[in-house]
Amino acid sequence: MRWQGQRITDVDESALPGMENRTGFLRTVTTPEFAGMTFHEVLAKSALNHVPGPSRMPFQWTINPYRGCSHACSYCFARGTHTYLDLDAGRDFDSQIVVKVNLVDVLRKELRRGSWKHETVALGTNTDPYQRAEGRYRLMPGVIRALAESGTPLSVLTKGTLIRRDIPVLAEAAQTIPVDVQLSIAVFDEELRAAIEPGAPTTQARLDTVRALSDAGFRVGVFLMPILPHLTDSIPAIDEALTRIRGAGADHAIYGALHLRAGVKPWFMQWLSQHRPDLLPSYRALYPGAAAEAPKAYRQWLAKRVRPLIRAHRLEARRSGDDTPARTLTQPAVLTSSAPTAQPMLF
Ligand code: SF4
Repeated sequence: MRWQGQRITDVDESALPGMENRTGFLRTVTTPEFAGMTFHEVLAKSALNHVPGPSRMPFQWTINPYRGCSHACSYCFARGTHTYLDLDAGRDFDSQIVVKVNLVDVLRKELRRGSWKHETVALGTNTDPYQRAEGRYRLMPGVIRALAESGTPLSVLTKGTLIRRDIPVLAEAAQTIPVDVQLSIAVFDEELRAAIEPGAPTTQARLDTVRALSDAGFRVGVFLMPILPHLTDSIPAIDEALTRIRGAGADHAIYGALHLRAGVKPWFMQWLSQHRPDLLPSYRALYPGAAAEAPKAYRQWLAKRVRPLIRAHRLEARRSGDDTPARTLTQPAVLTSSAPTAQPMLF
């Protein structure tokens, strides 16, 4: 197995709740190098996930090396998926990480199939491929190489500064396939950032990563999303964000208002009650009942203030998900490839 031979200082043999009898479960690992984290190593049956259609997403295929995410964003829409594993969508999502240790081998087999049409594959659509676990398991270099060698375009979206490790691999891949790279940076007040994304790299570290990727020749996009009502949606806050995004060398910006799906809403509201209880009535009004999206009027109001600022900062505006149609990801292969445009409202 890929992980055999790695130094593991403490192994907890207890099975992942709910997975004791599932084929493919290997073992549960804890190690002092990743204090507070538990990794559940599994054998994946498949690597490429087909996006169920019809979809707003500009891609049909995704790869997720991990389930759960140590970046621990309070607003993370993927939280609910952890309950499928009999884990909770809160602390467990942040710290109980499922690792598909055989991902690259499975992916290579799938890419060799005659039926594979080499459509763009998106990484980072569900959980972050450059979260802390990637420092241990190093799955992404193999994924990138496998896609490049098969002639499959790829798109990466991350909050993880660990992507800097893979800049040479991404640059090599971009010699033969379109490679799209985007950083997710939603909060530019560091105190708020630390409270709402406690496991993610600092805003400045992510901006430095944008700079490093830009210096390496990539046209980097920044996901300025989710924009949080009353917290990050003021004109000065958006202006500061775009100033720093542009200053870091980003090529384009994608924005969007907060989504609160059913699986994440209780956790986000709990966070809000602890950190900004004064905003609870307003959020309940904006996201009543099962509503996942802010009202159209709010999204239009947001578009009217963000779009002019994006233009003023000479950043190309990309789809917010509110009012601009999706385009395709396909572009000719160049080192500075930044094919894509639309993305789902993920981060
Ligand atoms: S929003 Fe992205 S980076 Fe944050 S916890 Fe979810 S998957 Fe991880």
